Amino acid sequence: MRSTPLHPVARLPEEWSTSLAARGERSFTAKQVFHWIHRRGILDPAAMTNLPARLREHLAAEGLGEVLTPERVHRSEDGTRKLLLRLRDGATIETVLLPSVSGPGSQAQLDADAAAADDDEDDDAEAGAAPRVRVTQCISTQVGCAMGCGFCASGVAGLKRHLGAEEIAGQVLLGRAMLEEGEDLRNVVYMGMGEPLHNYENTARSLRLLTHPEGINLSTRRVTVSTSGLVPEIARLGADFGGQIALAISLHAADDETRSALMPINRKYPLDELLAALRAYPLPRRRRITIEYTLVAGQNDDPAEARRLAKLLRGLPVKINLIPMNPIEASSLGPPAQERVAAFQEVLTQAGYSCFVRRRRGDDVSAACGQLVLLGAKPKVRRALG
Ligand code: SF4
Repeated sequence: MRSTPLHPVARLPEEWSTSLAARGERSFTAKQVFHWIHRRGILDPAAMTNLPARLREHLAAEGLGEVLTPERVHRSEDGTRKLLLRLRDGATIETVLLPSVSGPGSQAQLDADAAAADDDEDDDAEAGAAPRVRVTQCISTQVGCAMGCGFCASGVAGLKRHLGAEEIAGQVLLGRAMLEEGEDLRNVVYMGMGEPLHNYENTARSLRLLTHPEGINLSTRRVTVSTSGLVPEIARLGADFGGQIALAISLHAADDETRSALMPINRKYPLDELLAALRAYPLPRRRRITIEYTLVAGQNDDPAEARRLAKLLRGLPVKINLIPMNPIEASSLGPPAQERVAAFQEVLTQAGYSCFVRRRRGDDVSAACGQLVLLGAKPKVRRALG
């Protein structure tokens, strides 16, 4: 039972049907309202010109309107745009647009493949397709984060609050409206500020909104939820969406001691439980789980750890993204040398895994993973591991 009324932007078409039928509106009006919001991205009832005036007034009285306002856009030299967004209560979050020119074999394409959902390989076969700029959007699910991972800026100030489904989906509505000429919104990754599965209800509702055929209609295989490893919610996501939502796991270590030091959540859900949850995830055929592994110099970058990782993941349909840690002010930890990264990758490739090194994007605007820091949060130096 919801304690607060559902925001109009968070309503699904069937919920609009129920609420508008109760007001005596005609049956197709529900679809019209949903179209205005989620297909056309118009949140101002006054602009919904095909609706009767009394309904527009009712929608305004219900609070339909912008849920977040762009305050600043930081543009990186590599084209990455970080948007600082202000919520209605004054809190700020960030979302990141990562453009990449498509085209078989291009570095940008490889980068997008590594950063986003699985299986872009299928689409690279599109014969003679004109190069387009594919955009991956990284979205936030909480203001701050409670998980406290040692290499991540988002957890510095702790959790302030969950985002509503309207604020999660609203980031994509806004991101889509801010695309530039020739750009297509291709993938959405729940990898920004916050742990999506810690805010399960709103995350699940936003997934239904974003993939609804009457709305933005994103393909489920182009939407990736990334988690630090909340085992019960991984099972719930799998059951609620039949395994259709792409899953990424922030693993970052192949043994419990190292992982618990980097990620406190591992004390609650150790590796054997997490791996069991991944084996049980009802993944469709030919799809893979993405394993995110941030390489932190001197902590988890030893070739022996790569061998442990290869053993740990044996038999699971995965691809592995290696991410040299992005330097953040809040931590004394840093990335390994390039040769060390290459050696780690080689072990995994030799073991038969698809393994990518993710190029750091948007470093100059602090837009890369683990850098979505709360503005005004006071950085503290996290202890080194070991
Ligand atoms: S890595 Fe993800 S789960 Fe961990 S603190 Fe950062 S935002 Fe939270």
